[in-house]
Amino acid sequence: MISRMPKWVGDWLESAAGPRLTVLEAAYITPTIKKIRFQGDISKMNFLIGGASVIRVSDTDYRNYTVVCQDIEKGILEIIFHIHGNGVGSRYIDTLKTSDELYISSPRGRAPYDPKVKRYLIYGDETSLGLACSLLPFLKKNEHHFHFYFELDEANKNAPRLLGLENFTAFPKNGLFNNEKWIKDLPVFQVAGWQAANFVLTGNATSVQTFRKVLKNATIGKVIAQGYWLEGKKGL
Ligand SMILES: Cc1cc2nc3c(=O)[nH]c(=O)nc-3n(C[C@H](O)[C@H](O)[C@H](O)COP(=O)(O)OP(=O)(O)OC[C@H]3O[C@@H](n4cnc5c(N)ncnc54)[C@H](O)[C@@H]3O)c2cc1C
Repeated sequence: MISRMPKWVGDWLESAAGPRLTVLEAAYITPTIKKIRFQGDISKMNFLIGGASVIRVSDTDYRNYTVVCQDIEKGILEIIFHIHGNGVGSRYIDTLKTSDELYISSPRGRAPYDPKVKRYLIYGDETSLGLACSLLPFLKKNEHHFHFYFELDEANKNAPRLLGLENFTAFPKNGLFNNEKWIKDLPVFQVAGWQAANFVLTGNATSVQTFRKVLKNATIGKVIAQGYWLEGKKGL
C-alpha cells in the first residue's frame, strides 16, 4: 500500500471518497493502548473479518489499522491502536478526541478466518489486539479450538483481559519470538491436533518471519502471515 502521497492527491482522493468519520468515543485501555469508536456514513464500505482500513494521519501520510467491529445501521466502527510514540501515525492517533474528523478508507486485505478450519493459533503484539478482538466472536460462535499468543510490553500484559479476550498467553516483549529454538518448544507444538491448525501471525515483522520459518520447517499447519510493522521502516 502507498503510505505517502502529495497533499493535493490526498485531498482530491478524500473529496471523492465522501464524508469523513467522526470520533464518537476514545478510551485508553492502558497508557499505550487506545480504543476509538468512529461514527459516519459507512454504508458503502466493504467489511471483511480482520480487514484493515487506511487512515490519513497527516497531510501526506497514511497508515493501516484493523477494524475490530462495525455496526452499519448506526454507522459505527471501532479500532484499537498501539500508541508506541515512534511515528507520525501513532502521534496523530494519540491526539484524537471526541468530535475530531478524519479520513478512514473501506477495509480490505486477506481474510484470515476460514469457518471450516477447526483450530486456530493467533500470534501478535499490541498492533494485533484489534485483529484478535475481531476474530473472537466468530471463533466462539463457530466453536473453534483457539489460542492467542501475544508478545506485549510489561505495561500491556493485562490488555487482552481488559479487552475481553479469552484463551490467551501473554509473553514479555524481550526477543523470545526471535528465537527459533524457543518457538519450537512452545506448548502448542507438543499437543496433538495443533499440527493441522491455521496459524495467523501478525505484528512485529521480524517475529512473524521467525515464527513462520519454524512452522514451515516443521511443515506444521497453514500459515497466514503479515508483518504489521518493521523496526526502522516507516509505514509498512
Ligand atoms: C494490515 C495491517 C493492519 C494493522 N492494524 C493495526 C491496528 O489495528 N492497530 C495498530 O496499532 N497498528 C496496526 N498496524 C500497524 C501500524 O500500521 C504500524 O505500526 C505503523 O507503522 C504505525 O505508523 P506510525 O506512523 O506510528 O509509525 P511509522 O512512521 O510507520 O514507523 C516509524 C517507526 O516506528 C516504529 N514502529 C512502528 N510501529 C511500531 C509499533 N507498533 N511498536 C513499536 N515501534 C513501532 C518502527 O521502528 C518505525 O521505523 C497494522 C498494519 C498493517 C499492515
